[in-house]
Amino acid sequence: MDIPSFLNNTNPYFQKLKSSDKAKFHDRVEKFIDRKSITGRQNFLVTQEVRVTLAAAAVQLTLGLDTWDLDYFSQILIYPSEYQNPQTRQMHKGETNMGGFMCFSWIDFLRGNKTPDDKINLGLHEFGHALRFSGMQGHEPDYFFDNYFKRWLACASREYTKMRKGYASILRKYGAVNINEFFSVVVETFFENPQEFKTNLPELYHHTSILLNQTTAIDGSIVLNCRESLMKLNISKDIKENRALLKYVLPNSGAIYAALLFVIFGCFSLLGDGYKHPPAYILFILAGLCWLHLERKYTRVYFKGKNLIIEKGFFLTKNPHSKTLPISQLISFYANYYELDNTPKIEGCNIVFYYEGDFYEENLYFELSQPHFDQLCDALIANYVHVHIVR
Ligand SMILES: [Zn+2]
Repeated sequence: MDIPSFLNNTNPYFQKLKSSDKAKFHDRVEKFIDRKSITGRQNFLVTQEVRVTLAAAAVQLTLGLDTWDLDYFSQILIYPSEYQNPQTRQMHKGETNMGGFMCFSWIDFLRGNKTPDDKINLGLHEFGHALRFSGMQGHEPDYFFDNYFKRWLACASREYTKMRKGYASILRKYGAVNINEFFSVVVETFFENPQEFKTNLPELYHHTSILLNQTTAIDGSIVLNCRESLMKLNISKDIKENRALLKYVLPNSGAIYAALLFVIFGCFSLLGDGYKHPPAYILFILAGLCWLHLERKYTRVYFKGKNLIIEKGFFLTKNPHSKTLPISQLISFYANYYELDNTPKIEGCNIVFYYEGDFYEENLYFELSQPHFDQLCDALIANYVHVHIVR
């Protein structure tokens, strides 16, 4: 079977790919078929056409990702039509089972592909679940997908909450069942009607494009590896500059006292015994090491315009590790919040951000007053940064 020409004739997504991406798609389809055990149930005959059609849905969803083969789900069972789940006794069209297998009703799988713009696609829907749960039981999820998902969630929760309350959406109603169904419904809409999605929910479309590292251009073609450039276009709302917002408290101020003590003892040692006394120099070296330790630990964080500035060091080692991060690259903000004698206190926070191809975590200790804390959280939430407050 000539897979590329079969896909060219039957798969509208494949038709919209650049020729180099078609080669990548074809390669992944073959690998997917090799790596999965695909078996028919109730006398369903699994032909090569079935295998390629099935694999194409998974490959379409994950074409922008590095870890793409959903390896936790190694077994795929195909029924001719709707089937009864032996445990729940309910009829199913498809299923992504946490036991590591997936099931499809083939008639419904093909029905999903038949109308490519009705926002219903069983294959993409179930593989959406599989992608969401692929990092299970020691199996590797895609690094970027897994880390960016929190930011996607911060954006998605707005539309999801509206749907839960019964408001109409361009996303189909089934997405309101739970956040996993919501993600799969978003996936179906993302591929089947990108223009309507983009027009009505531009920010959610934008973050979904980043998450999946692919998007549909105005001319309808598929653009891969777009996340870096799209992240730069992330809509960032200014956070008012307020250096008091994140007032840093040195967690290891003991190092300052140690450095000072070593300097003082060193000076006494010099006064007493003159220049050539070696212990004085050893004390000065120890003072220097304490100081460097302090500088290495010292971090100052504040917002300036559309950026979060992280400064490290402040005298000897100033600047080399400082970062200016667009708010668009922040992923999540966790803070421990508690009340002491009716005074709110923030004891440490954790900021996760994306920087030149990697995700980083910065643990910070600072004190904030209640209005400053609220101001900070409001600003982050307005920018779709995932905010989590542990009380
Ligand atoms: Zn589902």
